[in-house]
Amino acid sequence: MSDQDPNCIFCKIVAGQIPSRKVYEDEELYAFHDIHPWAPVHFLLIPKRHIASMAHLAPADEAWMGRLMVLAPKLALEQGCNPYPEGGFRMVCNTGIEGGQEVQHLHWHVMGGPRPWARG
Ligand code: AMP
Ligand code: ZN
Repeated sequence: MSDQDPNCIFCKIVAGQIPSRKVYEDEELYAFHDIHPWAPVHFLLIPKRHIASMAHLAPADEAWMGRLMVLAPKLALEQGCNPYPEGGFRMVCNTGIEGGQEVQHLHWHVMGGPRPWARG
């Protein structure tokens, strides 16, 4: 697919070339457990299309981005995060080198569950 980067680890996960523990999938979005969880619940929510970072978003991305944001709390609960307000979750999108981004395919960390957490 032309909207995938053959050298990108998350594109390979979307394509099934690298295994992942899938949480959710539709035509545009994919979610899977982080391989090094910081919290009892820790999954990544990504667009299937290769977009390097949040700095690359354009107005054409507003629709699926909105869907992703509405989907996140639903998946968080399904994955075992406790309900708001006693529970809740943290959603993080590291962007760029100074933002701490290591994988150059746009992704949101969704983390939750009882504290203390390993990190964060
Ligand atoms: P970031 O620093 O925001 O780019 O985070 C990248 C995240 O991807 C880290 O939390 C890694 O543990 C996670 N990660 C890297 N490779 C994999 C993989 N193959 N499967 C699941 N998570 C991964
Ligand atoms: Zn990619």
